[in-house]
Amino acid sequence: MMKTTPYWWKAAPRPEIKEIELPETVDVVIVGSGFTGINTALVLARAGVSVLVLESGEIGCGASTLNGGMLGPSFHKLGIEGLKSKYGQDVANSILRESLGFVDYLENFLITEKIDADFIRNGRFRGALKESHYESMSKDLAALTKVTSLEAEMIPKSQQHEETGSHRFHGGVVYHRDAGIDPAKYHNGLVDVALAAGVMIRANTRVTEIKKTNSGFDVSTSSGIIKTSKVAICTNGYTDEVTQQLRRRILPMRSAMIATEPLEPELIKTLMPKARVYSDSRRVVAYYRPSPDGKRILFGGRASGLKDSPRNNAQLLKSFMTSIFPELSSTAISHVWSGLVAYTFDHAPHIGQFGEGKDDGLFYAMGYCGSGVARSSYFGSKLGYKMLAMEQSETAFDNLVFETKPLYQGNPWFMPTILRWHRLLDRFGL
Ligand SMILES: Cc1cc2nc3c(=O)[nH]c(=O)nc-3n(C[C@H](O)[C@H](O)[C@H](O)COP(=O)(O)OP(=O)(O)OC[C@H]3O[C@@H](n4cnc5c(N)ncnc54)[C@H](O)[C@@H]3O)c2cc1C
Repeated sequence: MMKTTPYWWKAAPRPEIKEIELPETVDVVIVGSGFTGINTALVLARAGVSVLVLESGEIGCGASTLNGGMLGPSFHKLGIEGLKSKYGQDVANSILRESLGFVDYLENFLITEKIDADFIRNGRFRGALKESHYESMSKDLAALTKVTSLEAEMIPKSQQHEETGSHRFHGGVVYHRDAGIDPAKYHNGLVDVALAAGVMIRANTRVTEIKKTNSGFDVSTSSGIIKTSKVAICTNGYTDEVTQQLRRRILPMRSAMIATEPLEPELIKTLMPKARVYSDSRRVVAYYRPSPDGKRILFGGRASGLKDSPRNNAQLLKSFMTSIFPELSSTAISHVWSGLVAYTFDHAPHIGQFGEGKDDGLFYAMGYCGSGVARSSYFGSKLGYKMLAMEQSETAFDNLVFETKPLYQGNPWFMPTILRWHRLLDRFGL
């Protein structure tokens, strides 16, 4: 029977840590126990700050342990042209150059902290669904390699059989330095490192209100009130009314994944000859990869709606998967699961402070636009340094305007219609 828990959780179940008493006061409260929250907490704890992470569900139950574990600089998420026209060539170039370091940052972190998370740097193949997509990929690549040291190459249709067993594509691009990871193993390792550094983590404790006081904040939770000087909001796609100012700037979307039953090794080798991570040029993203043990295919994409609907998601994703790999049409699906990602109006993640005054002590990092494993880790550490007012907190993403739209309150009711429209355009290759 198809399981509705993430494939990753079998090898790396959510950790059960000793329940702690809620302290009356603490230097910093962090809301959210994903990669952003725990990485922020780690930097602070190592600087001698007392820090408490509050998580409304199980530890790491948000997107951080549900994702595809596909790592890259996420250039195409950034809307490069948009960034250029909004912030100018210099800021755009700095953002692109910094983004190129996200995967290196995470790889070094895993090595330094001795976290075994099946990190593997096999690169990414991104297929072009139309000839015109191939041409625009080629143009984008030329523009990117002008301003960054991105290691990538265009793969013409005549050579794409070396990259993929799919016949759907008109060539594509290989990003040689993209990578894969087991996100739940990484998260469990990260939690161990954070606990060892003195971070306090409390699961099943929802933050219900954050009130400014003369000396800092009163943070109300489902289990009591805590006094603190600073708060970090690390809630990404799960940002709720508690921080309505941020919620208005985030477009939550549901992303879903399926895992196949174990497949014949020869079949996986035919479909994914270089065991890379994969995506393509469609508007409504599809991403896929072999599982780290090389036995299954993990396939992800936008969910059928904003609410979790495992049966519909499994059906939808299987039909996407078989449109790319018809060989999998009779393959059974063993797992289906989904979680929330956070889009932003300018396609860029955001980091900084908000509140009544600029130096209020209310910090945030979020808006990774569905591509946040490496980015949230990096932003988490930057946020920690920001809260310590340290120089290494600086990033090219500082000072980007975190936009909202008039009347938008955080409920993207219009997104299912837009997604349906985009799916239709994808179907006709437009
Ligand atoms: C199905 C799926 C596939 C994805 N695939 C990829 C991929 O292949 N590569 C990639 O780079 N990215 C991927 N992503 C995106 C990536 O997982 C996220 O960008 C990243 O994990 C965000 O981390 P985070 O710590 O900011 O947020 P999260 O991990 O989502 O954590 C936020 C936490 O805040 C908690 N929270 C919210 N409100 C409150 C409150 N009031 N009180 C207490 N706690 C609260 C939530 O319960 C949640 O646990 C994917 C995401 C999904 C869902």
